[in-house]
Amino acid sequence: APQNYDVVVVGSGGAGLAAAIQAHDEGASVLIVEKMPSIGGNTVKASAGMNAAETRFQRVKGINDSKELFYAETLKGGYGKNNPELLHRFVETAPQAIEWLADRGIMLNDITTTGGMSIDRTHRPRDGSAVGGYLISGLLRNINKRGIDVLMDTAVTEILFEQGAVSGVELLTDENEALTIHAKSVIVATGGFSANSQMVVKYRPDLDGFVTTNHKGATGGGIALLEKLGAGTVDMGEIQIHPTVEQTTSYLISESIRGGGAILVNQKGSRFFNEMETRDKVSAQIIALPEKYAYIVFDENVRTKNKAADEYIAKGFVVSAEGPRELAEKLGMDYHTFLATLERYNGFVENQYDEDFGRKTALRNPIKDGPFYAIRIAPGVHHTMGGVTINTETEVLNKQQQVIPGAYAAGEVVGGIHGGNRIGGNAVADIIIFGTLAGHQAASWAKR
Ligand code: ADP
Repeated sequence: APQNYDVVVVGSGGAGLAAAIQAHDEGASVLIVEKMPSIGGNTVKASAGMNAAETRFQRVKGINDSKELFYAETLKGGYGKNNPELLHRFVETAPQAIEWLADRGIMLNDITTTGGMSIDRTHRPRDGSAVGGYLISGLLRNINKRGIDVLMDTAVTEILFEQGAVSGVELLTDENEALTIHAKSVIVATGGFSANSQMVVKYRPDLDGFVTTNHKGATGGGIALLEKLGAGTVDMGEIQIHPTVEQTTSYLISESIRGGGAILVNQKGSRFFNEMETRDKVSAQIIALPEKYAYIVFDENVRTKNKAADEYIAKGFVVSAEGPRELAEKLGMDYHTFLATLERYNGFVENQYDEDFGRKTALRNPIKDGPFYAIRIAPGVHHTMGGVTINTETEVLNKQQQVIPGAYAAGEVVGGIHGGNRIGGNAVADIIIFGTLAGHQAASWAKR
């Protein structure tokens, strides 16, 4: 490979691959550097979809949506802490990002919803597969077709800076070989830091000992690379925990199990909260239990309607039982308490009113048909909303809000867009919207 490129992209998740494709299509020579032995970063684990309002695919389905509402609901979900300019750019260009993917054979034309959104605007692949794997394989197909250079098992250890602008990168291969690449611009798309427990605890001591749902490479190294160039950071303590993570495997148990009718019970066998509240609130209630974990309990009725449940059973961490008595025994719970919990909950379902915790959604199914199932869960670190500061053109800003020439960033490494809580479906939108924009900006900078 040549030692000179217009653009070096650090990281091969959704943001990095989208940036690389866009920069290439605008005539730039591009190198992607990935420290892990596989492509796709944490993006491959994305399950919900990609949020966008006023898209062609929504129109086809007769879904009447507005960018204003998308903006308002994202801001509300983020507790009003989102950076308004970045959020505006996000909402405005989301439909273009959906079309950008479609133009490249990546069709997200099935539409659903996630917590905090009132309208179907979460775009997913029609075949029902998880969005992350579909997206990464589609982007990779485009990378390969264009012959874009990719270095695997190689980390960027430093971003070089000469005469007032970014001038390249230092690399370290897995054989401990150092390498210098000259480049006119660098796009940092290294993802978040959920898998770096030291860094998580530095900003959030209360998250000490928490598992993470993230891949091993989510260590926040890109933030450190940019801080060395003087980059500012924002919202570093805004870290999302997901309430239902199986602790021995760090496997995320989808919200769709609760959405399908499952309940949460504590070790005593009692419900303790509205299962359908937002992630942060459900997590806080589990942490407040003396045992600090809970069980997701569901019956055969829920299992047959949810493909994910069979996957969890195959993974071996689901406790199955013929009925409530056997399940209580296996979980070491008092049978009478557990039975009373089920009977009371099933009464709420019948009356469509949860007297105890005010659950309003997914109250359809009484839990009564054997086999019965339980998964022991506790919260896990899921997404880091904070990161480096950028402007609406993805240019990295220093602590004085000035542009660092030639440095661009996109994806979870960036802070500000999601404020205090990231809505499901907004991370995938983020990486495609700002990834393509970073690719465009870096290519233009290289041509100047
Ligand atoms: P995003 O969703 O923002 O695209 P991902 O987590 O999907 O982020 O992808 C980020 C990728 O960047 C991961 O594959 C990770 O291994 C890679 N990465 C992180 N730090 C470095 C580094 N210093 N050098 C090369 N690759 C890196």
